[in-house]
Amino acid sequence: MLVDSHAHLDDPKFVEDRAEVLERAWNAGVRTILTIGNGTGPDDMGCGIPIAEASDWIYTTVGVHPHDAESMTSSHLTMMADLASGDRVVAIGEIGLDFYYDNSPRKTQLDAFKAQLELASRLNLPVIIHTRDADQETIEALEEVRPRRGILHCFSGGQALAECALEMGLMISFSGIVTFKTADSIREIAETVPSDRILVETDAPYLAPVPHRGKRNEPAFVVETAARLSGFRCIAGIQEKR
Ligand SMILES: [Zn+2]
Ligand SMILES: [Zn+2]
Repeated sequence: MLVDSHAHLDDPKFVEDRAEVLERAWNAGVRTILTIGNGTGPDDMGCGIPIAEASDWIYTTVGVHPHDAESMTSSHLTMMADLASGDRVVAIGEIGLDFYYDNSPRKTQLDAFKAQLELASRLNLPVIIHTRDADQETIEALEEVRPRRGILHCFSGGQALAECALEMGLMISFSGIVTFKTADSIREIAETVPSDRILVETDAPYLAPVPHRGKRNEPAFVVETAARLSGFRCIAGIQEKR
């Protein structure tokens, strides 16, 4: 049994064949999918709700992605709190910092990140955190507004960020990147995460694991990521808990 802890099932790439995609996931042993509620921007944060309502094994989130931080207003926080009261919404996310693409100004990203961390704490919900090329700023924001629970998704940071997350009680989720040839540094960090704190995800439709690399990713492919991860962790002598 596997959980895909992070997918974007609302993506237009799944419009044509979402039912078949879900059937393949189920047949591959995936029993829970978290579909992320970012959509095309803050007004679309409820995009995962109809998808989650249609399948009892799919849950969703609401949040404003760092790429869209510039379009977030205070009314979106009200909307987020309102949508988060629905029973298919289990977290606030993905939220965070992306200083690789810098699609929104960094200061605006930081403000949106902290405002959503605060909202999640107030609502007692976990957070799904996206962070890229912003390890130090992410650590500082998390130390300022400590989340109660949450996941660092698609981990691509350094050891200090991983240690900070673990020390705060957060989970760390690895994507298909761990199957890429060039990802030795991420595999090394994945070997340091305790079994009860590690998750896998697809981030579908992006980042398909080897041997599907370059194709549209889908939740069934989380099998490859989990197999690779447990393979090298086993070689490293880690006993997995289930
Ligand atoms: Zn992300
Ligand atoms: Zn994502």
